[in-house]
Amino acid sequence: MSFQNPVFIPGPTNMPEALRKAVDMPTLDHRSPLFGQILHPALAGVKKVLKSESAEIFVFPSTGTGGWETAISNTLSAGDKVLAARNGMFSHRWIDMCQRHGLDVQLVETPWGEGLPADRYEEILTADTAHEIKAVLATHNETATGVKSDIAAVRRALDAAGHPALLFVDGVSSIASMDFRMDEWGVDIAVTGSQKGFMLPPGLAIVGVSPRAMQAVETATLPRTFFDIKDMANGYANNAYPYTPSVGLLNGLNMACGMLLDEGLENVFARHHRIAEGVRAAVRAWGLELCAVSPDVYSDSVSAIRTPAGFDANKFVSLAAEKYGVAFGTGLGAVAGKVFRIGHLGSLTDVMALSGLATAEMVMADLGLNIQLGSGVAAAQDYYRGTQANSTKAAA
Ligand SMILES: *Cc1c(COP(=O)(O)O)cnc(C)c1O
Repeated sequence: MSFQNPVFIPGPTNMPEALRKAVDMPTLDHRSPLFGQILHPALAGVKKVLKSESAEIFVFPSTGTGGWETAISNTLSAGDKVLAARNGMFSHRWIDMCQRHGLDVQLVETPWGEGLPADRYEEILTADTAHEIKAVLATHNETATGVKSDIAAVRRALDAAGHPALLFVDGVSSIASMDFRMDEWGVDIAVTGSQKGFMLPPGLAIVGVSPRAMQAVETATLPRTFFDIKDMANGYANNAYPYTPSVGLLNGLNMACGMLLDEGLENVFARHHRIAEGVRAAVRAWGLELCAVSPDVYSDSVSAIRTPAGFDANKFVSLAAEKYGVAFGTGLGAVAGKVFRIGHLGSLTDVMALSGLATAEMVMADLGLNIQLGSGVAAAQDYYRGTQANSTKAAA
């Protein structure tokens, strides 16, 4: 594997040099005001990235998975009912976590490749006149299938049903790369991590909590210690953590938010959309299909590409790594061996994306797929040439 090449896995993502340097810090006293000068601006930056005025932000030494656990363990009690759709490996894992915590999951099985069925959510919530459902889970961007879901529609479903359940959103592969509006969509807990849109090494769970969800903490009884947000809030009030924080990563987070806000969130989203459109043009030119069933659910951070029947997509990923030193994503769960994934989020330019597409063509040709070398690259080049690039400020 070459460290010179960009990675095309959907996280961890390529790191800008400035962020690599920002996480490399000398030791400092994490119970001193100096630490507060890193912590508080980082929390304020995350709040802006989430587009929230009212959320409290908590950052744990963990990953996105720890963010899921933070959401459920702080706000729910054993036996509580939660509503969740399973349409990919990440929604599946969060559901599994809920079940292991003794929650009663009302499951909506959804074909992999489709978005969350907000209409089904509305029917179920409307029928739940006793308001037994305490939380609705939504995976904003299913990284396994390259499918984005409409969180505003999930909020409308809750509102149409007049249902008070909390709305928890997994934004691990969408936040800081695709439009996310915590307040406008009435999201009660937003979960992400450091290693995707924030362009940092893995190691942080980043969680935004609405005032309503903060209230739920008072009565919820699931056990929590490491992820207790009240302990964390008490720590923050003293420029500290209940334990030892990842100081370097928090310094990087502060700088990452600065970079994203300096580029402008709308420009960040437009850059991701444009790069993704070029990748999709290449996929069409190859005569292949996305796992995502329709354009309204296409993800701007990852594309899962179906390979022809009988072809083992895992071979694509292993040959790309062995022969060309380039990392792509494998298929997960129900689509293992049937798709490979191109991650196109974080610190990425159109020029970098073209190198990934060119590599993908070489690998597919090596493996005997009927691919015309240059066909996808040319389609993406045409698209990139003809669209406005705002590359001078792009995080790269
Ligand atoms: C990556 C990812 C996760 C898991 O995050 P970890 O940081 O690996 O724990 C959860 N949900 C989604 C949608 C993801 O893309």
